[in-house]
Amino acid sequence: MSAITPERLSLNTATVREQWDLAQCIEGCKRHGFGGIAPWRDKLQEMGVSKAAAAIREAGLSVSGLCRGGWFTDRGAVDQTVIDDNRRAVDEAAEIGADCLVMVVGGLAKDSRDLPAAWRMVEEGLAKTLEYGREVGMKIAIEPLHPMYAADRACVNTMRQALDICDRLGPGIGCAVDVYHVWWDFELEAQLERAGRERIMAFHICDWLVPTRDMLTDRGMMGDGVIDIPRLRGLAEANGFDGLNEVEIFSALDWWTRDADEVMETIVERARTVC
Ligand code: ZN
Repeated sequence: MSAITPERLSLNTATVREQWDLAQCIEGCKRHGFGGIAPWRDKLQEMGVSKAAAAIREAGLSVSGLCRGGWFTDRGAVDQTVIDDNRRAVDEAAEIGADCLVMVVGGLAKDSRDLPAAWRMVEEGLAKTLEYGREVGMKIAIEPLHPMYAADRACVNTMRQALDICDRLGPGIGCAVDVYHVWWDFELEAQLERAGRERIMAFHICDWLVPTRDMLTDRGMMGDGVIDIPRLRGLAEANGFDGLNEVEIFSALDWWTRDADEVMETIVERARTVC
């Protein structure tokens, strides 16, 4: 397997979210030779969607995904507000030419212990968003999150669970595979094979630190943790994935405190040597 060259990298803007706004991220990607970018909606809206779309196009970057739609359980029901927000996310993804809209589906509803109810809401919300996604030609990518987030972020926690939903909902929906969330899963190899080229819609990289000091904001730079990234990338690519390697690192204690150009340089170096 060949090393990841910068043009095979995409910057998930969360990686430098404390240092750069979206315009700076776009410039930074260009400066460091990245092939793509994956904006978060807050940064996108802050810059203005059409202005951002033009800047991304001008910089020659592809868009490996828009983060994020979902949060279907937030209001205790999949009401019009939730659906409208997800339709807007689909439109934004289309406007910036994203490969897919990444879904963080939501955890338990507020003050609820009813996990099956959360699952039902999520599937209903995904079905409705997918319907609209098909209309405008935008792919919907469920990102299964590590089970430690089942209560507060996403109650879809494995590739198997995500693909079961995809099977029920049909074409146009697949998975965003983030090594941070799925590296521990003994079924991963089989489920990536099951997903196949059509349904592996994005591939996110970072590393799992031992010990992990914060559940949300202590992800590691590739090579600093325990994930065998080359093995997982090999599995994704063996099953047809040929998209960009999207670097997504939430790191309040380390990488968010550094100069963003140093972060970018480190990513390029680690992609070449340990991924
Ligand atoms: Zn991710």
